[in-house]
Amino acid sequence: MEERVILDVSDGIVAMTEHAVVIAGGGPAGMMLAAELALAKVDVAVVERRPDHVLADARAGGIHSRTIEVLDQRGVADRFLAEGQVAQAATFGTTVMDMSDFPTRHPYSLGIFQNQIERIMAAWIAELPVRIYYGCEVAGFAQDDAGVDVRLSDGEPLRARYLVGCDGGRSLIRKAAGIEFPGWDPTRSNLIAEVELTEEPPPGVRHDAAGVHGFHRMQDGKTFRVVTTEQQLGPAGEPTLRDLSEALIAVYGTDFGIHNPTWISRFTDMTRQAAAYRVGRVLLAGDAAHVHYPAGGQGLSLGVQDAVNLGWKLAQVVEGTCQESLLDTYHAERHPVAARALRYTMAQTALQRHDERIKAVVDVVSEVASMDEPRKRLAGLISGLDIRYDLGEGHPLLGRRMPDLDLITADGRLRVFELLHDARPLLLDLGQPGDFDITPWADRVQMVDASYQGEWELPVVGVVSAPTAVLIRPDGYVAWVGDGTHHGLPDALATWFGPPTAA
Ligand SMILES: Cc1cc2nc3c(=O)[nH]c(=O)nc-3n(C[C@H](O)[C@H](O)[C@H](O)COP(=O)(O)OP(=O)(O)OC[C@H]3O[C@@H](n4cnc5c(N)ncnc54)[C@H](O)[C@@H]3O)c2cc1C
Repeated sequence: MEERVILDVSDGIVAMTEHAVVIAGGGPAGMMLAAELALAKVDVAVVERRPDHVLADARAGGIHSRTIEVLDQRGVADRFLAEGQVAQAATFGTTVMDMSDFPTRHPYSLGIFQNQIERIMAAWIAELPVRIYYGCEVAGFAQDDAGVDVRLSDGEPLRARYLVGCDGGRSLIRKAAGIEFPGWDPTRSNLIAEVELTEEPPPGVRHDAAGVHGFHRMQDGKTFRVVTTEQQLGPAGEPTLRDLSEALIAVYGTDFGIHNPTWISRFTDMTRQAAAYRVGRVLLAGDAAHVHYPAGGQGLSLGVQDAVNLGWKLAQVVEGTCQESLLDTYHAERHPVAARALRYTMAQTALQRHDERIKAVVDVVSEVASMDEPRKRLAGLISGLDIRYDLGEGHPLLGRRMPDLDLITADGRLRVFELLHDARPLLLDLGQPGDFDITPWADRVQMVDASYQGEWELPVVGVVSAPTAVLIRPDGYVAWVGDGTHHGLPDALATWFGPPTAA
């Protein structure tokens, strides 16, 4: 962080704090991005509207397999696994896609509430050199050729080389950048709350023509989490206890004496995606870039993975090792992933309507989804394990996630993911030691000689031929696959990690 003294317009002298990257919003996407940048030794600050990391409502109920893997790549998955419950929770329609046979160390989803997730993430980034401005709001910005002036609600200016909007679905950054947010208007709304009751609610979940409704008793024994679908699309404003009472009476004939709400919120099936993830020095990640109905639990996982895709690229551009055009690959890779997830959640929403014709569709879909091939494809999509970034033609590993293999190295047994903890690129030489000389990139790319005995099996794809070497990006995706030659390696190194350093 750098303190600069500048002249303001009234000729008074003000101190302006400068960071390489400022992130607006310290939710899951913002915190993950901050961690990635800090690991890459970039001066990063987060501006978060809340007074601290505590999240009043629970929101997301878990993360899927690929997200657990990316946390494992940074050595922190155990912190989440220790507090959550593993479960087969990849669903389509009413069918649960069992993915316990997937070739990953985490062939499951993890049930863990977003307030726990954010607490664990906040504790993690507190260990890293991340500056957080809590209780502070980004109120606007102006970008120029060299950077971005970020205006905060308390009036203190910040200057950044890049600004990333991780400020949620109503993103001010997206709107102020003039980025379009095309998609589909909401057709239904749900109320979700934590309340106390004077009457015992019915057990289980009720489905009717409006949607889904249910109660869940919390650990303290007296508070209930309630979710209900409103009969008509609710207004955009904050919901009240009265709104909740009326919605429950419409379904159950009673509101069970709801009182003392801890929080009440409304969510809808509005489905929209930013037309561009970057305008100049301003980028978007997480809900700021895409919103959808929470069915299927995709939102938080998508945002965390956006951050992991963007972090190392932005770090390299800030450090000057790569051209700014590297940032274009962020949109090119992540926009299609979210677009696909949006279509999945829209299909999920349609299948949740309970008229007889939709029920017939659900029956047919369930039958198909229980077959092996469709099960694998759908579970691959929901878990995020099937993601393939378009890095051109070649070996099936190219553009896909690197499996967490058990390697034998000069330092003993190591898992691939352990070699990614520092978020540095990795050339894994699985052939004869000394096959490669990457001296011109040695300041940026680690090289490890290793051997691996087992099969190479990828989720959904199946068994693939064993490569002799792999170049792995810091986000865990394979940028080059060796076939016994060096063919294409210098190009891949230069494309992803910058030009060679002169001897
Ligand atoms: C009821 C409900 C259930 C859900 N269930 C699931 C689920 O099961 N699984 C799942 O994956 N997802 C679920 N989601 C979605 C999930 O909550 C979001 O996808 C996730 O929170 C997005 O993370 P984010 O960091 O992008 O944005 P957010 O979590 O919205 O974080 C944005 C942050 O930015 C801050 N902020 C906003 N504006 C500013 C500003 N101008 N200046 C500074 N700070 C600002 C906010 O205070 C907030 O902390 C659910 C959502 C809801 C509402």
